[in-house]
Amino acid sequence: MKSHNTRLVVNGLGTQPLGAPPREDAPGLLALVSALAGANTPQEAARAVLMDLRDRMGVDLSVQISFATPRPEVLAMVNEARSADGAEPYTWRWADGDRNLGHLTVLGPSPAERAMLDAWLPWLTPAIKRLTETWTEREERSLADRRMRLWQIKAELLSLSQAPQSADAYLAQAVVEVQRLTGARQVAFWTYQAEDDSLEARFHAVPGEADLTPRLPLGVFQEVVHGRQVRTVALTSDVNAGVYVLGPVYGDQGFVGVLQATLNEPVLGSHAEEELTAAAEVIAMGLKTVGFFEKLSYQASHDPLTGLANRRTFQTLLDREFKLAKRHAAPLSLVVIDVDHFKRYNDSYGHAAGDALLMEIANTLAGAARSTDFVARFGGEEFVVVLPHTDREGALIAAGKLLDAVRNIHEDALVLSGQVTASLGVATYPHDGEMPDRLFEQADQAMYRAKQTGRNQVCQADN
Ligand code: GH3
Ligand code: MG
Ligand code: MG
Repeated sequence: MKSHNTRLVVNGLGTQPLGAPPREDAPGLLALVSALAGANTPQEAARAVLMDLRDRMGVDLSVQISFATPRPEVLAMVNEARSADGAEPYTWRWADGDRNLGHLTVLGPSPAERAMLDAWLPWLTPAIKRLTETWTEREERSLADRRMRLWQIKAELLSLSQAPQSADAYLAQAVVEVQRLTGARQVAFWTYQAEDDSLEARFHAVPGEADLTPRLPLGVFQEVVHGRQVRTVALTSDVNAGVYVLGPVYGDQGFVGVLQATLNEPVLGSHAEEELTAAAEVIAMGLKTVGFFEKLSYQASHDPLTGLANRRTFQTLLDREFKLAKRHAAPLSLVVIDVDHFKRYNDSYGHAAGDALLMEIANTLAGAARSTDFVARFGGEEFVVVLPHTDREGALIAAGKLLDAVRNIHEDALVLSGQVTASLGVATYPHDGEMPDRLFEQADQAMYRAKQTGRNQVCQADN
């Protein structure tokens, strides 16, 4: 640092085409140039110049100093009390070729003081040039740092959403990530509750803060929510109390909620605001990606017409339940259900009416089964129900209830054709089969027997 200062002074004195300063003033000039070279901020530099001028011209000096810096707000201004008394202000401009480096105005100096300023101020040019270059570099570096940080926040939040997962799991991770990346005191995601038009703080980066304000009416956030654009708003007028930042997040289904952060310092217009705004935007994108995965996996596992699990999901689940049953030496039953004369119904009332009836049957079966039972559409007008922890006796009772429920369906079209009925086959592990395929075969055969022996009934596998 020292040698740097020295070099500056030597360069300055050696390269400027100036007349030599008065010999007796040289130490003072060296001291000022050296103080300038060591100034960290424009304010410090302005102060060094002011102090020097005060030594020479008295403490009642009225001076304005500014330096050309990348950000106009760091303009340094120092005002003291000398009255202008109508005298021309003295103005000096430091420049490097066409480039402005700074300026200085002194109100009402005497002719002797003007002459002294003229002799002195050019000597400061090299030091001021260095300073403005350093400040510019620093500012550019911090700008580059900020861009880098923003990019990092976006990239990390976005990569979180690339893993297939639920929206809840994504949000829970996202708030933790936002808190880590922004250094906020607390970050939470408030999810919109349509039923009472409120926002509920559901995902907290810092556990324990969750109890503070669990639920707020949407009205509190109205200003933010109505903007539709991600924007930030201070929730409290007391800036020192911690500031809240909000960005309404819109997913595929519309308004999802708001991202909120509590910081230790004012946030509006700060780097943190920029970062949190970017985070809210990326979370909105992430939710769409996550929603897309959720939809894909739902489509792959569910039947679009009835919303029931499809055949593939049924097979996966039956395998799993089988393993569990074996491990716990528990019974497991399976019911295969085929609607009777469904073709006739379709032919009489049309395919659309057939679809509507299938939906009704699916709802009915799902409603009649226990919550631990598992109902799936096997295909066409065939359904299957897995009954964990259910023995042969229990399975017959359950199948009977399912049949009763189907018989009780009252579709408008049925006024003409009468009741909907179905044929059901039941098989139970371990009695009727030790493997999932075998058990299904047995239940299916029992269902055919129900068909052949009159339909509208339950048959049990006869092993
Ligand atoms: P059974 O009593 O012997 O079971 O007679 P069924 O008419 O129910 O049996 P069949 O297997 O001959 O016909 C099944 C019918 O179910 C034929 C098909 O058009 C109809 N079906 C299958 N899937 C759908 C569907 O998604 N929507 C509609 N509307 N009909 C369907
Ligand atoms: Mg069939
Ligand atoms: Mg049928």
